[in-house]
Amino acid sequence: MTFSWKKIPLHQKILAGLVFGALFGALFNVSKFELSVTYGPPRTEQSVTVRHWDRIDILSADSTILASFGPDDQLKILQYIRRLPVAERSIRTLQATIKGVVSRYPGIRSVEKVQSLAVMIKPIGTVFVRLLMFVAIPMVLASLIVGAASLGDIRRVGKLGGKTLLWYLATIVIAITIGLTLVNVIQPGVRISPESREKLMTEFQADMLVPTEGVSLVDTFVRIVPPNPFAAMTGGEMLQIIFFALMIGVSLTLIDPPKAKPVVDFFDGFSELMIRMVGMIMTLAPYGVFALIAATVGEFGFDILGTLFWYALTVVVGLALHTFGVLPAAVRLLTGIPAKFFLRGMRDPMLVAFTTSSSAATLPVNMKACEDNLGVPKNITSFVLPLGATVNMDGTSMYQAIATVFIAQVYGVDLNLGQQITVLIMAVLASIGTAPVPGVGIIMLMIVLKSVHVPEEGIALILGIDRFLDMCRTVPNILGDAAVATVMAKSEGTLERRW
Ligand code: ASP
Repeated sequence: MTFSWKKIPLHQKILAGLVFGALFGALFNVSKFELSVTYGPPRTEQSVTVRHWDRIDILSADSTILASFGPDDQLKILQYIRRLPVAERSIRTLQATIKGVVSRYPGIRSVEKVQSLAVMIKPIGTVFVRLLMFVAIPMVLASLIVGAASLGDIRRVGKLGGKTLLWYLATIVIAITIGLTLVNVIQPGVRISPESREKLMTEFQADMLVPTEGVSLVDTFVRIVPPNPFAAMTGGEMLQIIFFALMIGVSLTLIDPPKAKPVVDFFDGFSELMIRMVGMIMTLAPYGVFALIAATVGEFGFDILGTLFWYALTVVVGLALHTFGVLPAAVRLLTGIPAKFFLRGMRDPMLVAFTTSSSAATLPVNMKACEDNLGVPKNITSFVLPLGATVNMDGTSMYQAIATVFIAQVYGVDLNLGQQITVLIMAVLASIGTAPVPGVGIIMLMIVLKSVHVPEEGIALILGIDRFLDMCRTVPNILGDAAVATVMAKSEGTLERRW
């Protein structure tokens, strides 16, 4: 028997990309004991790699020591340099002592981690994500116009919208409840040592993100109406695009059928071609996934996993319960689709969500999988999934609830039942306000923390592991949308039996 890569099913190739990418990333891990230093006057600057230093000092122009760092302080050194204004950097000298030998690098220009091969191939993954993002908006627009036109009158659209939102709310509340229960039982915040806490706070405080303004529900509603639909499209404003497409779709049913038909046919053909394009892009998925995972694993400091073990475990167990237990069981109960069949049909989008950490990038793959594998008609996927990608984030809301209670536990703040209910409500709102792209969940976490007066700087504690948890939480984020899409199709009587 000869091995043929071409004959392997796509999801197995993607899985292979994931596994080999992780191994590759682990092999070419960015070293914690190396620094690439660029120094010297402009145009004649030089670069050296400093390895395994015993001590690094930063000296002023008259050689007084301004700061000293030990062999494990790579992150601190990087942060110190990053915080120095550029003009000041160039009058400082970096002095490295390695086994008693002192080397001086005057006129510091930049100090960086040494790039590894795993990080260098990241652009391949970035191209894959960009390809997915670029099909998402035209695809949603075209299929939703056709979908709304086929749904017919506005009341039906309104009813479907109402039902969808209710189900979204239900899945989010279940997810948060699981999260809150687990974090109260496992108590990860109590298990973290004061030394670890100190270490995390000093290492990550400087990377703290800019706080966002609060989410206002009224504002969110007002902003659904785009003053300029083309600006909405260029800005990727999903809710505004949904609104625009729905208006066109519904209006199409109200004009003369001979006039409406060519428009509907055009968008129908257009959405068909977009789906075909997703199929083409997905043939690149194994390589994109390989590169993305390799870069993430290559950059990731594994020791943080040890420090935050109980916290990460709580989040991962909660997300896994929701992904592999609650959602498939609910789908089975409400639509009759067997749990295994549901999960099998969703393999591709789940893998893409995990590796890209972006519900927005996964949206086209999710639409395709729901239509092709689960038998959800286009008029449901085109409405329910883009809406879900924007407002329904089961994983993110669960994670925000767990993180809030975890930080409260570390700081010794007791959250009573009433406050935990506030956490629940705020996590629902924060996840609605979270943009479906990597790393936004942790920014919106500030709002939840604020609502129950848990110190916001506590975010520094969990920042180091967020990249990994972001990958995990994006999976239930998109699976929740797909689950609701099947339930909506069933309730509309349009779910095709595929199992
Ligand atoms: N990465 C998540 C998503 O795109 C959002 C987040 O939690 O940061 O669904």
